[in-house]
Amino acid sequence: MTLTMSDKLMVILGGGESGVGSAILAQKKGFSVFLSDNGLLKEEHRETLRAYNIDFEEGGHTEVKVLQADEIVKSPGIPDTAPLMQKVRDKGIHVISEIEFAGRYTNARMICITGSNGKTTTTSLIYHILKSAGLNVGLGGNIGKSFARQVAEEHFDYYVLELSSFQLEGVYDFRADIAVLLNITPDHLDRYDHNLQHYVDAKIRIIRNQRMEDAFIYWIDDPIVTKEIEKLKPVVTTYPFGKQKKADAVAYTENGKMIIHTKEREFNMELELLALEGMHNVYNSLASGIVAKLMDISDEQLRTSLSDFRGVPHRLEKVASVRGVQYINDSKATNVNSCWYALQSMRTRTVLILGGTDKGNDYREIEELVLSKVKALIFLGIDNRKLHAFFDGKVDVIRDAGSMKEAVDTAYELAERGDAVLLSPCCASFDLFKNYEDRGDQFKECVRKL
Ligand code: ADP
Repeated sequence: MTLTMSDKLMVILGGGESGVGSAILAQKKGFSVFLSDNGLLKEEHRETLRAYNIDFEEGGHTEVKVLQADEIVKSPGIPDTAPLMQKVRDKGIHVISEIEFAGRYTNARMICITGSNGKTTTTSLIYHILKSAGLNVGLGGNIGKSFARQVAEEHFDYYVLELSSFQLEGVYDFRADIAVLLNITPDHLDRYDHNLQHYVDAKIRIIRNQRMEDAFIYWIDDPIVTKEIEKLKPVVTTYPFGKQKKADAVAYTENGKMIIHTKEREFNMELELLALEGMHNVYNSLASGIVAKLMDISDEQLRTSLSDFRGVPHRLEKVASVRGVQYINDSKATNVNSCWYALQSMRTRTVLILGGTDKGNDYREIEELVLSKVKALIFLGIDNRKLHAFFDGKVDVIRDAGSMKEAVDTAYELAERGDAVLLSPCCASFDLFKNYEDRGDQFKECVRKL
């Protein structure tokens, strides 16, 4: 007897954007589908699943049913240490990510971006460049509509995918035509047994299955990334980018310009003309520019797109200028490294609002920039003791705030014409806010009411 797809049970664990998308794709491909979520689903996801007639449960897992799966698509939010996952492993059920699953059903070219910081910005910028050039391109991964759902319902020739380390853990046969690894700094170590190498191993999976005809773009100044590449010696065509011209770099900066060399040609553009500010965004623009050149986007198109990109909310987002003070929302800076880049890009004296849920932060990383650029610090969090212990005595003016309104009002009081007020918290937002978007939205609202 031959098995048909409907004899195969695909279980989807987690009913967020990627889980619901995977369920739709699995159903379209003829599998029996069961979606199970330990928590509660959003109403819109419930409605979608009902509309598609997909069997699902929420508020807990029916283990016997989950363990009948022929294969499982697991949401990146569920850690391997969850008790159910142990049982899944004991039964030997293959567990994949949405990216692996959806990748089986499309022949589109895959442009995949990972890194500790800059993923969303770079993914959005690359998408903007390709879309503006008229390519039939989809945007997915950690961002927007799920990749699986787009594979089920759309017909794109290219996908630009933002991939987190959690999504990369569940890829096996998936192959990126172009892979971008922006940087690796310690993050999410709680999910990796506090072992940096485990996190690095997950990130580097982005080049798994790549071949010589594929492209691997990476930041050559990153010691963790370069060490890993020396160790692995991947068989793929590499396109490193860096701050300065060096032996291997195909893209770099020189005399106030960004330069990209590919196929014996040179693209150059004044850094001043880039839409995104700050050195970190120069790196993001270099990486995006290499992708564009590999895809034969014209110099003129690329120049236009790099200069008219509108940016992504909550990343160094200029909110308003109030009485000569520029307010900048960088709520997405949930670690110290991204705050470092934000401070580095500041050209005026700055009132810095930071604080929240600490993730084991080491503030020495931003100390020098704080001392040279920051005139006042406002600690916005429920427990600011660690910030006080580090900064007290180093910065003249330090204030505490227990709400965004208090923080913004205090900043308004302290900042003078020509200064900037920067929200770049270094911390997660969960003590006072729903998430970083809520924190940034509240900031913007308070600023607009000034
Ligand atoms: P991700 O999606 O990886 O979290 P984002 O594009 O959302 O990255 O940016 C997150 C934060 O990191 C922003 O606050 C930004 O200031 C900072 N950032 C952006 N790009 C880089 C980079 N290439 N290197 C370091 N920090 C960056």
